[in-house]
Amino acid sequence: MISEKMYELGTKKSTIRTIFEYGRKRALEVGEENIYDYSLGNPNVPAPDFIKQAIIDILNEMDPCDVHGYTVAPGNPKVREILAKDINNRFGTHFTGKNLFITSGAAGAITIAFKALSEPNDEFITFAPYFPEYKCFVESVGATLKVVPAKIDDFQIQFDEFEKMITPNTKAIIINSPNNPSGVVYSEATIKQLAQILTDKSNEYGHPIFLISDEPYREIVYDGAFVPYIPNYYANSIVCYSYSKSFSLPGERIGYIVVPDEVADFDKVYGAVAGAARVLTHVNASSLFQLVVARCAGKPSNIAPYEENRNLLYNGLIEAGFKCVKPEGAFYLFPQSLEPDDYAFCKKAQEYDLLLVPGTDFGCPGHFRASYCIKRETIEKSLPIFKKLAQEYKN
Ligand code: PLP
Repeated sequence: MISEKMYELGTKKSTIRTIFEYGRKRALEVGEENIYDYSLGNPNVPAPDFIKQAIIDILNEMDPCDVHGYTVAPGNPKVREILAKDINNRFGTHFTGKNLFITSGAAGAITIAFKALSEPNDEFITFAPYFPEYKCFVESVGATLKVVPAKIDDFQIQFDEFEKMITPNTKAIIINSPNNPSGVVYSEATIKQLAQILTDKSNEYGHPIFLISDEPYREIVYDGAFVPYIPNYYANSIVCYSYSKSFSLPGERIGYIVVPDEVADFDKVYGAVAGAARVLTHVNASSLFQLVVARCAGKPSNIAPYEENRNLLYNGLIEAGFKCVKPEGAFYLFPQSLEPDDYAFCKKAQEYDLLLVPGTDFGCPGHFRASYCIKRETIEKSLPIFKKLAQEYKN
């Protein structure tokens, strides 16, 4: 009668949602200030003032029919030109508007990319820990997602395991750096090795293996960390970008796909992107927010509050006895759980009103994710509680 698969996706809550909703209920019982909710990745830094100003100026200056009307499906051509120039200024690339396709955030971009590339029996590969939505996005286009186990000492890539997973059916690899949930940035050496393997395997199989770079956290990096721009390392790459995190606009749904000229058969790939967007009912990304991000392209993200939170939480957890790879980006920490069963650990933490997400949900058991895009005071207040929790495991 209906698609059981869709029913399951629509009604079975994700662990993150379940924990978040539990937190809302618990807050009513014990008070908001006594809940330490590290579950969601919703930016808590407000969108910068220049965004508000751009919206006001656009509404005051422009014809409402232009502001709110349909644009062409790939996005307003002038906006695409401006965004392409901004990318070129920052990464030394040579894109023009024709390389960009403006989407409803990164989720829109990734799903379109999967659908554009997929043929029957295709396989996509990602690396644990990974953003769990990849699995249902990939499966929704009839392909399979394979997951390379995590390299838990530094959350770079286990290349030997990766090479074993590549087959003639491998259509694309999807990476996410800075990473949700580990916060780790892939080093240039990692990207170079990845590019070399993909080049060799593409030659061996006689067809390109694409590299999709999902990078909504690109600007959220600390300690001057270098985030390699993937098209500068590998020709058959597709970039999926979003302003959800960098400009704190997750509800506005705005991002883009970059298809570089160097991609094998550019016209076909870009055309398939447009076709995939069409059947996924994309029509066009928000017209107003296309104009807004064009006016704000190249302006800085406010990452200072996240950096402070990272330092506070990371140092606090290490002091309490947790083991954690120090993240250089995004707004997540991914420490080892204090018992091998990360679900049991997160349940125990919940007794202390610490709301943490089990690593198993990201394909990496024995860990937990703490999203620190929350109030600094909440982190400060939670640190003695983390200590108590750690103490319980020592006893
Ligand atoms: N990719 C990753 C790794 C994410 O963490 C998220 C959101 O949290 C997305 C994609 C989706 O982002 P958007 O809001 O731009 O669709």
